[in-house]
Amino acid sequence: MDRLKGKVALISGGARGQGAAEARLFTAEGAKVVLGDVLDKEAAAVAEQINKSSPKSAVALHLDVTRAADWRTAVETCEREFGGLDILVNNAGIANMKGVDETTEEEWDAVVGINQKGVWLGMKTAIPAMRKRGGGSIINISSIYGLIGSAGAAAYHGTKGAVRLLTKAAAVQYAPENIRVNSVHPGVIKTPMTDAIDQDALAQIAAMAPMKRAGTAEEVGYVVLFLASNEASFVTGAEYVVDGGYTAT
Ligand code: NAD
Repeated sequence: MDRLKGKVALISGGARGQGAAEARLFTAEGAKVVLGDVLDKEAAAVAEQINKSSPKSAVALHLDVTRAADWRTAVETCEREFGGLDILVNNAGIANMKGVDETTEEEWDAVVGINQKGVWLGMKTAIPAMRKRGGGSIINISSIYGLIGSAGAAAYHGTKGAVRLLTKAAAVQYAPENIRVNSVHPGVIKTPMTDAIDQDALAQIAAMAPMKRAGTAEEVGYVVLFLASNEASFVTGAEYVVDGGYTAT
């Protein structure tokens, strides 16, 4: 019940899917959560639902992860509402299922802006606040597509691979300050992101994993919860796959 008691978490992309699942799991374990998203109504609904079972535990706000000013507001909100910031989950992301020569420059910039620059901006803004608390835990959501290639998701692969190594660079830099930084690499997970993709093609990709199914947002969330908690106190710079064995084959 109290795995995150006394901790304050900021979750980007918290309006639905994995981010919303993590907000629910974190508050059930005693954390206070600020969830930021560009989907304002959906984020507010998630916070409202959480506050019914865990009163005054969640605040929703508008956060476009590509905007430094939004990040500053989000971190200030954590400090003003809940007294500080201990955990950052860089979860917001968008998919783009196009190959190298089919991807437009606009698509490339959009994917890089959200999936890659957004992660850097989140860490850059959160770290000074974590320093004030004497440490923290950052979890960057990459993908199995940040570990292996496939035909037809060029910008997505590029950004998720970048998140993997940005995570390790930050882990090395901030270990002396007790700020741990790890990446999580989900396989095929059932969320609104994958609901939007051709379901036959998705089922074929999911069947390539030894467990032969898609995962749930909660199955990723429990790994993120572990990394956020003091149970992971000696874990930094690591990459955790949550993929039903997909990358083991
Ligand atoms: P999702 O689409 O349900 O959720 C993503 C959230 O990010 C949405 O609420 C969306 O509004 C938000 N978002 C998008 N652009 C944003 C921006 N500029 N600023 C703030 N928020 C923004 O998808 P999900 O599956 O929950 O994805 C969560 C993370 O997991 C993403 O980083 C995704 O790339 C990654 N991932 C997903 C899968 C999968 O199969 N679902 C697999 C591997 C990795």
